[in-house]
Amino acid sequence: MTEDEQFMLLAMREAEKAREVGEVPCGCVVVRDGRVIARGWNQVETLKDATAHAEMLALTAAEAAVGDWRLEGCTVYVTKEPCPMCAGALVHCRPDRVVFGIPDPKGGACGGWINLLDSNPPLNHKCAVQGGVLGDACLEQFQSFFRAARAAAKERKRREREEASHDSAD
Ligand SMILES: [Zn+2]
Repeated sequence: MTEDEQFMLLAMREAEKAREVGEVPCGCVVVRDGRVIARGWNQVETLKDATAHAEMLALTAAEAAVGDWRLEGCTVYVTKEPCPMCAGALVHCRPDRVVFGIPDPKGGACGGWINLLDSNPPLNHKCAVQGGVLGDACLEQFQSFFRAARAAAKERKRREREEASHDSAD
């Protein structure tokens, strides 16, 4: 297993924390000098905050750990290709590299739909990007969450129908 894959596994562990509380499983770790300095997992529902993506929370934690908003020398590992908001934040924080698992051709902003990490004159920073690291495993983690959510919704509807038929029988 490569070093990138090892750190992606740790990002997947963060994603698992999201899944455990019913959040879409996306996780992120920030690494510097071969060491994890910050972690984050998606908490949009928990915090009722649409900006609480795994990357945003991990970047804030990394800035606190470093004591600077500049994350030079850092690599950010995230299980899914960052969206435009997170890609914008990444360019502002200036990590050296961004490594993601699942490519997102529809909404990804690191080369999938658009690429905000490459040649960004107003922000004047360019991150190296690597996608598809443990992509299949990250995708399975993601899709199994939605499969379970669909099954739970179906079961809920079935119960509601059952209760409704009981009510009418009373
Ligand atoms: Zn995002």
